Amino acid sequence: MFGFLATSLASYVVSRRSLHNAIVENELPLTSDNIYSEIQKDLIRPVLISSVMSTDTFLRNWVIAGEQDPMRMIEYLHEIRQRYHAVTSFFVSDRTRIYYHADGILKSVTEDDWRDEWYFRVRRMMQPYEINVDPDLANRDAMTIFINYRVVDYDGNFIGVTGIGLTVNAVQHLIDDYQKRFGRTIYFVNAEGRIVLKGDIGISETQIDERGLPARRLQQWTMSGSHTEQVEYHGHERLMNVRFIPELNWYLLVEKDETGAMAGIRNALYVNLAVCAVITGLVLLGIWLTISRFQRRLEEMATTDKLTGAATRHAYDILTEQAVRDAHRQRQPLTAMLLDIDSFKAINDSHGHMAGDRILMGVANAIRACLRSSDTICRWGGEEFLVVLRNCDQGNAERIAETVRQTVEGAAFAFNGAPIPVTVSLGVAMLGPGQTGADLFAAADAALYQAKQAGRNCVRGALEAEPAD
Ligand code: GH3
Ligand code: MG
Ligand code: MG
Repeated sequence: MFGFLATSLASYVVSRRSLHNAIVENELPLTSDNIYSEIQKDLIRPVLISSVMSTDTFLRNWVIAGEQDPMRMIEYLHEIRQRYHAVTSFFVSDRTRIYYHADGILKSVTEDDWRDEWYFRVRRMMQPYEINVDPDLANRDAMTIFINYRVVDYDGNFIGVTGIGLTVNAVQHLIDDYQKRFGRTIYFVNAEGRIVLKGDIGISETQIDERGLPARRLQQWTMSGSHTEQVEYHGHERLMNVRFIPELNWYLLVEKDETGAMAGIRNALYVNLAVCAVITGLVLLGIWLTISRFQRRLEEMATTDKLTGAATRHAYDILTEQAVRDAHRQRQPLTAMLLDIDSFKAINDSHGHMAGDRILMGVANAIRACLRSSDTICRWGGEEFLVVLRNCDQGNAERIAETVRQTVEGAAFAFNGAPIPVTVSLGVAMLGPGQTGADLFAAADAALYQAKQAGRNCVRGALEAEPAD
């Protein structure tokens, strides 16, 4: 039982730990990896397109030639947007500060407008391009990933910025898909701890700190790659995987409700424990029933003579000791009646052992017939029976003995059609003051000897025998 219990508990602990490890080491990082690589895939293509635009001969020549006929630039941008399914495509000229895009001229960029801040950043930048996420003015301020590529003339002088923009829809679909399929919550957080991109469902906050996850620790955690943290949030244990995405300067967070995930194996444990309890109960019941049946059988075998159904000598010793103690304490008479079948050897010899056995049974029944139902008879030896009579004095006992003698004598024993006359001799003795069970039996035995001496088929009392001293 304890083995089964220990196994159940151990397997619960093990599966709990392995589930935890699976979430921490595989599930969350894998989801994070997949989303990350999907984002990179989504970003690499536009970076290439933007790169091609920045070195495009038409674009550079048109700018160097003085930006004649803006429609030509607009058509070019329009074609790029069309061909690469971009949301927007643009060119900002450094000389005129005009923002050209696929649908026309949007505006002029100025250093005072915070919306144009990006342009002057790229202008000062050393690297050839940057990826920036901003609301797109040309696209109803939808969150857009812009690839901003520096354009230089043939001498390497900066002449403007070009590139394309993509909405984050693709990434958002991916997030929703993962959330639905795997029950995870996925979102992006910027360096200030603001949730910048999330799926349709699963998260309502805008500040990462509201989820029990201090934003200031994000950077610390992601110094050496992806990191998983256990956070308690609204009474649920949540596992959170954090990863820094340098291209976006965002953190990608993938979280899973561990409490929910553990519910399954916890239920399995409860079922196991219930099964264990039921099985243990059944096994114990079975063992108990078997043992008690065996015990009863053994007791019966040890205390009952198989042939006659009388008590064995061993069992009777215990009964007699108890009866002697009771008689002394209650000052009540107690008598022993010892019976021996006369010339039994001769019966065996002339009729066979089977006949002898039959007569043993018959004599036992005859004795019982003359006793109270509460009196127990004992097969004392081969063909000797002993009866201890409680609350019965010498005179009564001798009368009972005489009845037994007559009953046996009067019974018509027969075997294989041949009648077998049977008689018995009986010795009766009463317990004297201070006597033990052994004294009582010795007196009865002496009385029986007297009966045999007297010619058998008679009753003798101990008073007529050697008086016990
Ligand atoms: P007595 O009148 O002096 O008692 O003569 P007896 O032949 O009865 O005396 P004894 O005690 O010498 O003989 C007892 C015989 O009882 C011997 C034994 O073979 C036989 N006997 C003992 N137990 C059994 C039994 O279970 N079945 C049978 N058939 N015979 C038994
Ligand atoms: Mg005999
Ligand atoms: Mg005998």
